[in-house]
Amino acid sequence: VQHLSQALQRIEASPTTAMTDRASELRAEGRDIISLSVGEPDFPTPPHVIEAAKAALDAGDTRYTPVVGTAALRKAAALHFERDLGIATDPSRVIVTAGGKQAIFEALAATVSAGDEVIVPSPWWVSYPQMVRFCGGTVAPLRTSARNNFRFSPSELEALITPRTNWLMLNSPGNPTGAVFPADMLRGIGDVLRRHPQVLVLSDDIYSPLIYTEAPHATLAVECPDLADRICTVSGVSKSHAMTGFRIGVATGPDWLVKAMGKLQSNSSGNPASISQAAAVAAFEGPQDFLADWREAFRRRRDLVVARVNAIPGLSTPVPDGAFYCLVDAAPLMNRFGGDDGKLALHLLDHGVATVAASAFGGKDGFRISFAADEAVLVEALDRIDKALA
Ligand code: PLP
Repeated sequence: VQHLSQALQRIEASPTTAMTDRASELRAEGRDIISLSVGEPDFPTPPHVIEAAKAALDAGDTRYTPVVGTAALRKAAALHFERDLGIATDPSRVIVTAGGKQAIFEALAATVSAGDEVIVPSPWWVSYPQMVRFCGGTVAPLRTSARNNFRFSPSELEALITPRTNWLMLNSPGNPTGAVFPADMLRGIGDVLRRHPQVLVLSDDIYSPLIYTEAPHATLAVECPDLADRICTVSGVSKSHAMTGFRIGVATGPDWLVKAMGKLQSNSSGNPASISQAAAVAAFEGPQDFLADWREAFRRRRDLVVARVNAIPGLSTPVPDGAFYCLVDAAPLMNRFGGDDGKLALHLLDHGVATVAASAFGGKDGFRISFAADEAVLVEALDRIDKALA
């Protein structure tokens, strides 16, 4: 007998993970598959981070830590929020979680009740709507399109707000679109939020170091400091320091929310892994100069991918300003795939390239490419895509 909860029945397994798994299966069968479906940097974790993890093991750092993170890491994370994002916070208002994912889940699970509405700009990161549904909330999709560089206007946001709206999910730079909200647009969003005090904002800044615009990364808590007590900002080391496997995320926000998240964590996962926490201290406190090289490499890859995609008949993409994703529109080709971009993605997989269908992200008629891969690999992948669609 299966006894699935109503909450579980409302969600599906992550489609991005499903595609990565399918690509691994094909590879195990001996097929040559280029995977552009994963959401992690391909660079090695910086050596000083690895050394810190080893040192923690040798020092016997193998026990429970405080549930919401070690004092050292909460202090280092507070430093990160202030130095890298401009958000002045206190270690007491920082929670350390098992990846940014857990922080987002906890923030929602601690606050969303049946009937609550959460505004999620689409195309969205796959887990946002699933988490909302798991918590019993309703997803209010805020549709964006390539035409507007996948950004929404203040009036489009305001049109979706009801008395039951309790969160706006904001992800800049965004996955899967690479969209970046500049400071002036954030201030426009802030003007709307001031009129609706029931709305909290989850600012998912996990990709903040990977930005390719002239202007530095902007974040809502800095642009609208008067709203800071309604904003939960999530960051981490997964993308910035190629530490996806360490599972460390950090969040800061109003005291009541951080405490509520901690309460949940104390009764579920407990503290994040002690070794990973020690490594994350080194990530936040150690040298950050390698990031300039990564950014430059990602920018070159982005330019390569965008130019190649836009040269393939039927495909188009705007230039993503951040993260390492490119959301490709294939609308002119969709009748060949019965209007189903899942079939398009499988067709590309048949030709040796794993991507993820746009519909997995609440979009349509396209696919997401992750350009966290070598330039030579990207060139080969785009040759294959070109051939597959010729
Ligand atoms: N937020 C976004 C937009 C992401 O793309 C990801 C990872 O893919 C996360 C959060 C979670 O990252 P982590 O691996 O730290 O849980």
